[in-house]
Amino acid sequence: MSDDYKLETLAVRAGIERSQFGEHSEALYLTSSFVFKSAAQAAARFGNQEPGNIYSRFTNPTVTVFEQRLAAMEGAEVCIATSSGMAAILSCVMGLLKSGDHILCSGSVFGATIQLLGNIMKRFGVDTTFVSGTDVAKWQAAVTPKTRMFYVETPSNPLTEVYDIAALKEVARKAGALLVVDNCFCSPALQQPLALGADVVIHSATKYLDGQGRVLGGAVLGKREVVYEGVLGFLRTAGPTLSAFNAWIILKGLETLNLRVQAQSAAALELARWLEEQPGVERVYYPGLPSHPQHALAMRQQKSGGGIVSFDVKGGREGAWRVVDNTRLLSITANLGDTKTTITHPASTTHGRITSEARAAAGIGEGLLRVAVGLEAIEDIKADLARGMR
Ligand SMILES: *Cc1c(COP(=O)(O)O)cnc(C)c1O
Repeated sequence: MSDDYKLETLAVRAGIERSQFGEHSEALYLTSSFVFKSAAQAAARFGNQEPGNIYSRFTNPTVTVFEQRLAAMEGAEVCIATSSGMAAILSCVMGLLKSGDHILCSGSVFGATIQLLGNIMKRFGVDTTFVSGTDVAKWQAAVTPKTRMFYVETPSNPLTEVYDIAALKEVARKAGALLVVDNCFCSPALQQPLALGADVVIHSATKYLDGQGRVLGGAVLGKREVVYEGVLGFLRTAGPTLSAFNAWIILKGLETLNLRVQAQSAAALELARWLEEQPGVERVYYPGLPSHPQHALAMRQQKSGGGIVSFDVKGGREGAWRVVDNTRLLSITANLGDTKTTITHPASTTHGRITSEARAAAGIGEGLLRVAVGLEAIEDIKADLARGMR
């Protein structure tokens, strides 16, 4: 599809390949394997002399539509879909690194990412150093001769720290390392990390891309030589592939991504401003607020602040749990990017399994709450939060 089309157009049109029936909506190909016309054709497909589908662990037409659409929206050469966001991170690390390699990872990342890189990969000889803070000089100082990957979430979960992608790319390039950016919080509707210099983009499609809290999925995007030559072999062999059904759900989600994220981001800004004025709130973390330490950088890299607002309430864990337990509308759940607003207490849930020292280093206090703004009326969301803060 033409590169000249805008994101909104690509979101509903990119990747479509109609079958002989001429269906308008994308077809769902629920099949584990594909049949061949002859033994010779089977051999040609397996031998890579003829393009085409073989088995859904390798390729599936519905998954391919999702991959092409997301690639177009991120401005990526290629995309490969995975069964979850964590499967995308695992495939990226397993496909691109080997024993003895070293990762620099931002200290404030998704809890399972800390576990995967800090504990599990360590057993296979891949060491990770977590760099605290967004200061690029700290990353430079932490580089070792073995550093092969920089891994960053921007804005980060849950503190919405913003990292300078272009500046990190410079440091990574000089170190001979790839810059991997988890673009979950912004989605391509608000930020396109590849255009800013990232080598690889990671998605948890479970979040904004599906956008309605239905299925798990993930994706790895970037240049053909990195993603296809590096990551694809691991994915096809090890098997954390996206199912055709989930691909179909998520690709329909992509069609409304821009509308949803714009609305959620506007509502989140209003909520963040309101929270700043509440006496029960100590601090608000939201990149769209002028009080955010990296507000200027965020506004350069992102179209707007995004849909996630975190804030510290007075009274530590007790105060935070009181706010959570007094909600009647908001969903007490760890998911984000849903049309339904969700509220999470990171210290006891998403970041509950990491050590309290690691939590403190990441700045995740006992009074911290994370709200992922959905599509309800903002007045109703405010009223629901106000109850527990009184
Ligand atoms: C949820 C999330 C992940 C993991 O994705 P799953 O689909 O749950 O495996 C990774 N990174 C970020 C920022 C997330 O929010």
